Amino acid sequence: MFETLSERLGGVLDKLTRQGALSEADVSTALREVRVALLEADVSLPVARDFVKAVQEKATGQNVTKSVTPGQQVVKIVHDELVHVLAGDTKDIGALKVDSPPAPILMVGLQGGGKTTTTAKLAKHLTEKQGKRVLMASLDTSRPAAMEQLETLGRQINVDTLPIVKGQSPVDIAKRAKQQATLGGYDVFMLDTAGRLSIDDALMAEVAAVRDVAKPHETLLVVDGLTGQDAVNTAENFDSRIGITGVVLTRMDGDGRGGAALSMRAVTGQPIKFVGLGEKMDALEPFHAERVAGRILGMGDIVALVEKAQETIEAEQAERMMKRFQKGQFNMNDLRNQLEQMIKMGGMQGMMGMMPGMGKMAKQIEDAGFDDKILKRQIALIQSMTKKERANPAILQASRKKRIARGAGLEVSELNKLLKMHRQMADMMKKMGKMGKKGLMRQLGG
Ligand code: GDP
Repeated sequence: MFETLSERLGGVLDKLTRQGALSEADVSTALREVRVALLEADVSLPVARDFVKAVQEKATGQNVTKSVTPGQQVVKIVHDELVHVLAGDTKDIGALKVDSPPAPILMVGLQGGGKTTTTAKLAKHLTEKQGKRVLMASLDTSRPAAMEQLETLGRQINVDTLPIVKGQSPVDIAKRAKQQATLGGYDVFMLDTAGRLSIDDALMAEVAAVRDVAKPHETLLVVDGLTGQDAVNTAENFDSRIGITGVVLTRMDGDGRGGAALSMRAVTGQPIKFVGLGEKMDALEPFHAERVAGRILGMGDIVALVEKAQETIEAEQAERMMKRFQKGQFNMNDLRNQLEQMIKMGGMQGMMGMMPGMGKMAKQIEDAGFDDKILKRQIALIQSMTKKERANPAILQASRKKRIARGAGLEVSELNKLLKMHRQMADMMKKMGKMGKKGLMRQLGG
């Protein structure tokens, strides 16, 4: 999958990584080509546009990390943006909600999209990978062949199917499946609904009626990944009328342009949960955005290199700070860094709790009702100081204090509290510094 996109993107980014210095124009040119590559892969226009814009912003705002080239850094940014566009903020996409048995899974989609095949593949996956007992039922009353197809697949993969009873409506079959799943002690029952060649109201009404009796934990839309934009439109349609919890993109084994995969999440808000990679029963994979992004770019080594370099830089910064603390240097810039770190690390209590001798202070902070809002106010106060004041807070007399507090929209009393906290922390840093680097590292658990 994604061969064409991969080749095109690879070509554009490869050129960048081999250049030593990059001008803004170089990046712009490359990003124009990235945009063309995305559009050629059938990624929807707004998604392609937003993608390029996000990369552009991140690429210009970024300081170049030592020991990697700017081009390599752009590759990492493109990679991260790919992961974002594929998965949004969802982390654990392949996990289906199948607790509280028997859990109903509703399979929906157009005819020929691969719904029946995928139902069986997923049943096999749930049985073999997750040890679930699964019952499958076909609700395609208009096509007896479809019912038999599911039965045949069931025998092939050793998964039970609901016996076919002629003349029942889809809703009746759904009820019977639920009953049998309950009586038979199944963990999951899967309902393979009927498809049509295109979206039609009768189909939607039928599927909605089934949904209402089955109350599915998961409603998975199966769409042909080769149909690009159409797949995305189909997903939007099913989602607004039925409400889906995820998408399975089939036929991703072909050298499809793959645009559907990149637009799906952004356009429909629904995650791709699995991809079909062939006709065989085990040709189904949970969708991992990281892995897919890696496959599209084919530049895993560069991404890893940049990650490593960024970690090194952070470690070097921490090291530099330690050295300053040992010399008893702890000014307002250091305090601001600390406050920003605290916000990153889950607030003040979290941070204090981790520092030696700060347990008691953490408790006091908790009692005083400290939270991120206060941290942000303190940062605002520091930002309101001049460079000179930040480097040497000892020069702060009444008029300066008033100006600073006003600049941050706060009271002088809050500034006084901040100054007191700074003095206490500076004292403590000095004491820790005297213990020597080894002692300090030991205290910090380094
Ligand atoms: P339905 O009408 O949506 O139930 O579609 P089917 O499950 O009957 O599938 C239609 C055809 O697509 C069958 O020949 C399947 O073997 C094939 N198919 C389904 N999924 C995939 C896939 O991921 N890759 C490939 N290459 N073929 C698939």
